[in-house]
Amino acid sequence: MGDHFQTIIDLDAKADEAPQLGARVVEWLVTEGIVLAERTDCVLGAPLGHEPGPNWQRAVAAADADQDPWDGLAVHTERGIFDGGQGGPESVTCPLCETTTPLGEGAYEWDEAGQDTADAPGDTAVDEGQDTADAPGDTAVDEGQDTADAPGDTAADEGQDTADAPGLTAGDDDAWPRFAAAMDTWHETGAATADCPACAQPVPLTDWIWADDYFAFGHLGREFWNWPEFTPEFRAEISRVLGGHRTAFVRGKL
Ligand SMILES: [Zn+2]
Repeated sequence: MGDHFQTIIDLDAKADEAPQLGARVVEWLVTEGIVLAERTDCVLGAPLGHEPGPNWQRAVAAADADQDPWDGLAVHTERGIFDGGQGGPESVTCPLCETTTPLGEGAYEWDEAGQDTADAPGDTAVDEGQDTADAPGDTAVDEGQDTADAPGDTAADEGQDTADAPGLTAGDDDAWPRFAAAMDTWHETGAATADCPACAQPVPLTDWIWADDYFAFGHLGREFWNWPEFTPEFRAEISRVLGGHRTAFVRGKL
């Protein structure tokens, strides 16, 4: 089965306002009866979370109203890279030239790192950054070694991947390391750009369009564990409570 999560990330909250905004959203969710006020051991990736409240159905479609959520809400109020868990991002699209770049196998190593982190609850976002920072060159080096070990295989695999997903440009094994490096920088400083492989423009990391909305970057994330799918109306309500802030929605499973 695995554990499913849905995370609503505030894209506009600054670091110093995230705790206050996070508390505001929890207060609203408690008032609505969607979660309970007290915190218990009911989430993955954090010590404590809010269990579902008596009116949790307000967040989901009527058809899902009999699928009781069996875990709670974790609120993250530190700078974090939120990802979609299993699978890794297949590609990323430049918002300027609209070219889609396949990310190859390097991006899937991110997923393995994420799973390791999930096994150690409490520091999802922070650990991600630290792990990567501890070995800044590893991703790029591994990519290079893989290619060198089996020069023909990589090309063939890339070709197959591309054929599976029509419309993508040719595979770019160099693409993922540049995004991984940008993520390290973003985690440390809150700002980073990655040069587009196609148009060569420096594009802010937060502006890239990830396949399946795999990544989102922000200072405030509401991570719900093992709930039925949220309705667009519920997600819009969260944005409204945040004063109209833009939000991203990342979902996946471990
Ligand atoms: Zn571009």
